[in-house]
Parts: sequence; structure tokens; C-alpha cells
Amino acid sequence: MGAIGVSLNGVPFYNQYAAPDEPLTNEINSFDQYNGHPTGNSNYHYHIEPLYLTEKQGKDVLLGFLLDGFPVYGPSEDSKQVSNDDLDEYHGHTHATSDYPDGIYHYHTTSEDPYINGNGYYGTPGTFTQ
Ligand SMILES: [Zn+2]
Ligand SMILES: [Zn+2]
Repeated sequence: MGAIGVSLNGVPFYNQYAAPDEPLTNEINSFDQYNGHPTGNSNYHYHIEPLYLTEKQGKDVLLGFLLDGFPVYGPSEDSKQVSNDDLDEYHGHTHATSDYPDGIYHYHTTSEDPYINGNGYYGTPGTFTQ
């Protein structure tokens, strides 16, 4: 499955499927200590919270952007864990953040499927080339 976005350190985000209609369960075993792994042609990518970023910079920071241009934040906010119940069908919601004090739609990574992005994009996805 192709990239759904890109993190601030340049590593692409992939969705929650290892392959069409195949859940991540088996692939998770191949994730490294930063929750990433390469595909067969060795493009390193993340399907879930990128620990390389959240361990260094915090659980509530801007992590990157999805293909529709909206930002992705970590799994915590205002010192609280974000759960899927806090988010809409696209895995995001709208409010002010430290980077966008006027408020913006944004995605969150969570510890549960679908981890980064839900049922489609909130905005119109563009294209992404590595
Ligand atoms: Zn993968
Ligand atoms: Zn939020």
C-alpha cells in the first residue's frame, strides 16, 4: 500500500493495511524500535505512531502531514491520551493547536486501528513522491 502522508523526518506514513484487505497484525512483528520498517524494496515507512519522533519531541507534537495537507499529531493532547472515540471517521478533529492557534483540522495517531488515518481523507489528497 502506498504512502498516505509524510512525517517531518521525511519518512512516509502508510495506512493500516499491510496489503489490500490484509490487516497489519503480521507486519507489526517486523517493526523496529521506532515502530517503522522497510518494504520489500526498502522504503522505510511508518504505519503507526513514529516513536523516533514522539520519544524525542513528545507525544503531543506535530509529526507530519497527510496527502490532503492536514497535519498529523501524536497520541496525546493536553496531557491526555487521545483515543479513537475523540476522533471522527477520518481519524481527526478540529481545534486550536500550538502550531495553528486559530484552529485547524488535524489527525492524531492512536494506539488502536486505524492508528493514523481512518476512512478516507478529510480534504482532497494530493500526490506524494519520495
Ligand atoms: Zn509496512
Ligand atoms: Zn487534536
